[in-house]
Amino acid sequence: CGIVGYVGSNSSTDVLLGGLRRLEYRGYDSAGIAVVDPSGDLTSAKKAGKLQMLVDELDTNPIADGGTGIGHTRWATHGGPTDENAHPHLADGGKLALIHNGIIENFAPLKDELLAEGVVFHSETDSEVAAHLVAREFRDTHDLTEAMRRTVARLDGAFTLLVVHADQPGVVVGARRNSPLVVGLGDGENFMGSDVAAFVAYTQRALSIGQDEIATIRPDGVDVIHFDGTPADRNEFEVNWDA
Ligand code: GLU
Repeated sequence: CGIVGYVGSNSSTDVLLGGLRRLEYRGYDSAGIAVVDPSGDLTSAKKAGKLQMLVDELDTNPIADGGTGIGHTRWATHGGPTDENAHPHLADGGKLALIHNGIIENFAPLKDELLAEGVVFHSETDSEVAAHLVAREFRDTHDLTEAMRRTVARLDGAFTLLVVHADQPGVVVGARRNSPLVVGLGDGENFMGSDVAAFVAYTQRALSIGQDEIATIRPDGVDVIHFDGTPADRNEFEVNWDA
């Protein structure tokens, strides 16, 4: 029910947990984060229950901190609120992490297809198919944006998806259909959120991401394309909390 993404030189763990805290008002049953450090190691943690459960888990078992990460609060639709069903979902031998808000309506045939290829699933969610699809396309393309683009072409339903890959530190790719996504524009750092609350503590400059668009953020820039691969208009706005 809440999504945050970060690339930059701050502690991604702090930015992600702070963002998730400001999204708590939306309601959720589980929370998790994944971080890619500059040397290309991906680590993650996820817990059913309140955000504090995740914070306690991270205190006990700290994960490597890095400048690239994604964070999620879940409102379960497919699969009960368990640690395993919490996001991020990992794929590609733990090198890829994906978070999803919404419902992937056609996950069942996609899951059958992936199972037939020998993919092992670790959750009961609809979301995990998207992680394995992006992983499959990434093996072909070595480009996370193109892997996301090929994946969303196969999905029906409502989704905000964010993905990171250990082989592309400094990149977060997000996509949206029938579910919200905004980009926060920083100085040497950039953000994503399901709403501006996720990053307003850091920047007031934002880009609204349109229906069926994909945004790729790096510390030094943001690209936005349509699902068909053509460049999308940049709709910049100023966050005004007094409004
Ligand atoms: N459908 C997904 C799940 O049940 C995502 C739910 C959400 O929007 O948080 O895990």
